[in-house]
Amino acid sequence: MRRLIPSRFLRYVRPMTNARDVLASFRALPVTGIEALTGTGPLLVLAPHPDDESLGCGGVIAEACARGETVYVTIVTDGAASHPNSQTHSRKRLQSTREQEVLAAVAELGLPPSRVSFLRLPDGRAPHRGPQFKDAVATLTRFARDNAIATICTTWQHDPHPDHLASFRLARATARSLGIRLFSYPVWGWTLSSRTWLPRAETDGFRVDVGAHLPAKRRAVACHKSQIAGLIEDDPAGFALSHEFRAIFDGPFETFIRS
Ligand SMILES: [Zn+2]
Repeated sequence: MRRLIPSRFLRYVRPMTNARDVLASFRALPVTGIEALTGTGPLLVLAPHPDDESLGCGGVIAEACARGETVYVTIVTDGAASHPNSQTHSRKRLQSTREQEVLAAVAELGLPPSRVSFLRLPDGRAPHRGPQFKDAVATLTRFARDNAIATICTTWQHDPHPDHLASFRLARATARSLGIRLFSYPVWGWTLSSRTWLPRAETDGFRVDVGAHLPAKRRAVACHKSQIAGLIEDDPAGFALSHEFRAIFDGPFETFIRS
């Protein structure tokens, strides 16, 4: 016999959505022009790690640059935890390598180094709350105010990576403090399986056609050599963006969810 939940308890049951259905709805979002992101003023792309900016927003950054729109990129963590066992690449060297890789990547997209900044929070341990979180929000808020940022794009809150969620929370706190718009782009979220259920995930958003910039986006992603295998060979356990994972982003659309 099926047991019914007494109606007085129903309001405590959070509606859940299967990740597969959420991702399918993302793939069916309407296609719009880049004005949806840049039409109200300068855009800030907040990326948890060096490489997320190119994977999630490389086409949008290229299109904005081609149109003379103002875009900034801020990298949240120092990226120094990807190869913890490497003897040739200490944390310090890895941080410097990855920052150079970001600058090379965005140059492929048409963005000058002066538009890139680094919060250098610890890779894998970006703060979700507490004094370090508040300091980072204060830094971002000051930066956004000084540069008249109208819209922030950051990683999706359901990306299964703690730094990606931390970036979302930092962006949300900054956007709320200034009353500006917030959109998110999935990165690791695209890999969620049908075994994952999400609490009332937002499915409102749009896709931007970036097909014209795919060659530049590919070159930008390829600049992250330390993450693609080959550059750091003495840490087999080190992180690598697989070919299959990179292929997820090798298409004509980039997806933005309204938050
Ligand atoms: Zn990342």
